[in-house]
Amino acid sequence: MIQYPLNPDVVIIGAGAAGIGAGRALAKAKIPFIIIEAKDRIGGRAFTDTTSLGHLWDHGCHWFHSADKNVLRNLAEEVGHKYRSEPRTGVMRAFMDGQWKNDRLREDFVWGVLGDVAEAGRDGRDIPAAALLDQNHPWYPMAKHWLALMYSVEPEEISTRDAGNYDDTGLNLPVEDGYGALIARLAAGLPIRTSIAATRISARGKEVLVETNHGTITAKAAIVATPARMLETGRLGIDGLPSEIAQAFADAPMGYYEKIAVAFDGKVFDGFDVPYADIFDPVAATTHPLNFELHPFGRPIAVTHIAGNFARDMEREGEAGMIDFAVSALVRAFGSDLRKRIKKATTTHWSSDIFINGAYSCARPGKGAARKAFAAPIQERIFLAGEHVHPTFQATAHGAFETGLFAAEKAIMALGHMTTGAKRTLPA
Ligand SMILES: Cc1cc2nc3c(=O)[nH]c(=O)nc-3n(C[C@H](O)[C@H](O)[C@H](O)COP(=O)(O)OP(=O)(O)OC[C@H]3O[C@@H](n4cnc5c(N)ncnc54)[C@H](O)[C@@H]3O)c2cc1C
Repeated sequence: MIQYPLNPDVVIIGAGAAGIGAGRALAKAKIPFIIIEAKDRIGGRAFTDTTSLGHLWDHGCHWFHSADKNVLRNLAEEVGHKYRSEPRTGVMRAFMDGQWKNDRLREDFVWGVLGDVAEAGRDGRDIPAAALLDQNHPWYPMAKHWLALMYSVEPEEISTRDAGNYDDTGLNLPVEDGYGALIARLAAGLPIRTSIAATRISARGKEVLVETNHGTITAKAAIVATPARMLETGRLGIDGLPSEIAQAFADAPMGYYEKIAVAFDGKVFDGFDVPYADIFDPVAATTHPLNFELHPFGRPIAVTHIAGNFARDMEREGEAGMIDFAVSALVRAFGSDLRKRIKKATTTHWSSDIFINGAYSCARPGKGAARKAFAAPIQERIFLAGEHVHPTFQATAHGAFETGLFAAEKAIMALGHMTTGAKRTLPA
């Protein structure tokens, strides 16, 4: 039976990858703690859905990014959680202007742009990614679309320096058994109370008071592992939040990213030779490119990815419009018979989710060093964790998890305990 300490030394707010990483580290160090989670489920942006379509798919994270340096991939190995262990080549085709195109031009331009953005940052330039884009290039909409998928904001809002800080090893592996399911497995046995939302945190002397919708929790330290948007908007307030941290929330805000998932009565893309397709068929001036996973792990589904302001606006319009948009694009590229094979369709709602409210953080141009401010303790006993806090694996689940481990180390030191002995340092 899970024990919930009445007087925890540490309270962790948020049971996403970061909060669960922190919880595992505190459990290992035998520190009394509790995790409170506002939603009625754990995992946050790591959420594997097996019910809405009758087939497993991830609403949020799905890939082990930088998989050769990914702490969660190692833990997946330990617990026997399946993922694709080999990268695949030649995986993408693009449908544009009414025909399938498989030319080097797309590869060179789209991947070239993504590489240029990060390289400019590594060269010390902190400019908008948009400055590196040729808007007249025929593949410009596709490059813009891919930048949005990677950074969840518009090219004008991407700091090349923040992009350059990301430690991209180039090895990205999808999680077959579900990334959300992995995070849930890693949370087994931790003292997590769901449906408890923190509203205000304050440090008083040697105590931290966390006000929630179920009363006040008193502890000696707090780890705040909620999405950045909660703190940026003040929906979760921290008394005496240093101005440089408040400014960093404004300088590295979260963007938007949604998925639309469709289930068929069987395999409908079997003759198609690759597992991913970009579809950009400009039937109107406003038509937007989208990206599909086709039959991931052999499942009879397709999952569409859209991001940036377009994803935010579509989500606002509602599920019916999102599904129609995705299905219409599929039908244009694969033929109208496809429509008859559809069994179910559903969408994510990260943008309007009151406890998430976006996708992931991206620093604004000129503010590429902004997220460094998140590493500082607040009044010596409040520590931030989450994807926004990681200096080199920002915007990822494994990055979030690592910041949780690190925040736990800091909390343990603040309590005056020995550290867990693990040599764990985030890059400066
Ligand atoms: C569509 C999409 C696709 C993605 N794809 C990938 C991918 O393939 N690979 C990858 O590595 N990353 C991906 N990411 C990013 C990744 O999912 C996130 O970076 C990561 O899961 C964030 O973890 P976190 O712990 O920082 O925050 P979260 O997972 O958001 O956890 C924070 C928790 O805090 C809770 N909370 C909020 N407010 C309160 C409150 N007041 N009181 C108590 N609890 C509160 C929330 O409900 C939530 O459960 C994707 C994200 C999205 C949206």
